[in-house]
Amino acid sequence: MALTADDFKEALSSLPSSEQILLLKQLCAPQFGGKLADFNSPAVELAQALLPLAATFSIAPISGFNVGAIAVGASGALYLGSNLEFTGVPLSATLHAEQSAVLNAWMHGESKLQALAISAPPCGHCRQFLWELPNAPRLPIIVGQAQTMLNELLPMPFGEPRSSGQGLLDSPPSKLQSIAPAQQITAQRAINAAQRSYTPYTHTPEGFVIECADGQHFTGRTAENIAFNPSVPAVLTALNQRNLSNSRHVTIHRCTQAKLATALHSNSKLAASIIRSLSTAAIQTVLLESA
Ligand SMILES: [Zn+2]
Repeated sequence: MALTADDFKEALSSLPSSEQILLLKQLCAPQFGGKLADFNSPAVELAQALLPLAATFSIAPISGFNVGAIAVGASGALYLGSNLEFTGVPLSATLHAEQSAVLNAWMHGESKLQALAISAPPCGHCRQFLWELPNAPRLPIIVGQAQTMLNELLPMPFGEPRSSGQGLLDSPPSKLQSIAPAQQITAQRAINAAQRSYTPYTHTPEGFVIECADGQHFTGRTAENIAFNPSVPAVLTALNQRNLSNSRHVTIHRCTQAKLATALHSNSKLAASIIRSLSTAAIQTVLLESA
């Protein structure tokens, strides 16, 4: 469903009017993509105040539980996040608001977070998901007025902390190429996304591109987790970017996935089920190999 300026105004009503004007300008722009960068307030304070705004993007037809999260990037920009549920597919396809905000920051090129503000305490699944961040142990987590660090919320994590330059957000891209010559720009976008996947545990990168009827496109990559289940497939990363944009209600016209030709696991069937729950769009596949 489309969000209107009235929805945004209501969520921003606690802020000074000059701040509301700066934010509304960005939120109502046709190209809005879930990032807020031009504001007056200190970023972390504003992140806490904007949680109701982030929650307006939530789609929770199963639980009815709307969650908002905001990742504060090292650049000072804010990245919205909201939970996403899908009817007719397994509950494991659910994306949590914390994941949504982190993935949004990642897709905008942030390599580190200053803090993560959330409207509800993070579940165990998300605590393990956040453990992949480069500065995970000391990442400030803000819930309401309470601030803590991830290592206090996850005192006995599964897996060692990621080294600097090897975590989700800051790991280097891999080199992949299409087995068949890929001419279309969309195929190349999917390949580029696959190359920037974070897959240190199974080395199975995937890229996903959603093209909408209004000409907008949304790209997603796989974000793997050491415990496997908190991993996010590329299709969800792409759907998250679409949901945080002003094309969230626009018909999906076509999808393209890029994946390795040979791998021990694949998200293709899951991606097809999720897309089919939203759209009749076809999914074309680009098969990849290491370059
Ligand atoms: Zn969670």
